Amino acid sequence: MKFPIYLDHHATTPLDPRVLEAMMPVLKHEFANPASHHPFGIKAAKLAEKAREEIAALIHAEDAQEIVFTSGATESNNLAIKGVAEIYQEKGRHMITTAIEHKAVLEPCRALERAGYRVTYLPVTSGGLIQLGDLERAITDKTILISVMAANNEIGSIQDLAAIGKIAKAKGILFHADAAQAAGKIHLDVQAMEIDLLSFSAHKMYGPKGVGALYIRKKNPRVRVSPQMHGGGHENGLRSGTLNVAGLVGFGAACDIARKEMKQEASRVLALRERLRKGLWEGLDDIYLNGSLENRLPHNLNVSFAYVEGESLLMSVNEEIAVSSGSACASATPEPSYVMKAIGVPQELIHTAIRFGLGRFNTEEEIDYTVKRFVDTVKNLRTTSPIYVLKGGI
Ligand SMILES: *Cc1c(COP(=O)(O)O)cnc(C)c1O
Repeated sequence: MKFPIYLDHHATTPLDPRVLEAMMPVLKHEFANPASHHPFGIKAAKLAEKAREEIAALIHAEDAQEIVFTSGATESNNLAIKGVAEIYQEKGRHMITTAIEHKAVLEPCRALERAGYRVTYLPVTSGGLIQLGDLERAITDKTILISVMAANNEIGSIQDLAAIGKIAKAKGILFHADAAQAAGKIHLDVQAMEIDLLSFSAHKMYGPKGVGALYIRKKNPRVRVSPQMHGGGHENGLRSGTLNVAGLVGFGAACDIARKEMKQEASRVLALRERLRKGLWEGLDDIYLNGSLENRLPHNLNVSFAYVEGESLLMSVNEEIAVSSGSACASATPEPSYVMKAIGVPQELIHTAIRFGLGRFNTEEEIDYTVKRFVDTVKNLRTTSPIYVLKGGI
């Protein structure tokens, strides 16, 4: 076993060696700008277009031309939300999203609010799901976009995209989903789920950093967004800038692997996740699962270890096991997680939360070590917790 053990796959994933292998010849030899019309450029453009097809296939887009290359899900979300806001503002200036979105959705929404738009932030259940009745009640004749994440980056909750898509379609409202955590992990189908715009990112699915995509529906309806990056008119004018061809080839390879292996991998990783969960619950009392076990990403586990400060726990295991704490996703700002607040986790338990994000290369051995290390460490830290000792825990 190699240390440290990486269990932080919601933050980013390692590059799959097969993806690196696909990228290497491109990095070495295919330096050309795909916008150039000489043989070098034409060859590079062919590589980018093959990647576009592999990326489109993962989410079952009808046409590869519905994929716009970006630098990642942050940029895709910005292009989708601000791009739709600008184009459709004649119809109305109201959008609907959820309280548990990633900052890459919440902040563009805040920017729109500053510009005079109205945004409704839907609450979620303790399981981290929106309620369809709330969504329907929030819709007005001024609503132009519903933006709901496919799966949450902290508690792994998976929204019912098909049901949301159906409501959006019936009301003639565009539906965007941030699928940074879901793409390549669970089945996504933009046609069956009636999704109009979908954001995702290569580095969350064993591809390279700095490349991502925005799916923009071309038919029924033909969706329009205004560019947020102006320049040479690349990507049909929607996203100017010279393409990262090697990165895109890697993204394409990552999508291809995910499409073929997703089912198998999900069940293998789910078995590991359940091994971790059962091990922790057998070894410890006073621990709580954040979010529900149903509708949850197979590789996500989020646990509050009562009477133990999450940061202390994190620091104690840090040399050997890489995980995130309850204030994880905005680690730069050590505030308690707004996602946990939104699902109703009490303040004192938010501070004791640890997010485990399992992945493709984790082994049973690593999970068994993690269980033992956490059980021992939590027991040990609790001996110094006056409240735990007082309540007769030890
Ligand atoms: C990681 C993540 C993002 C941002 O993706 P980048 O590719 O790093 O810009 C957006 N949304 C969710 C849900 C994420 O997990």
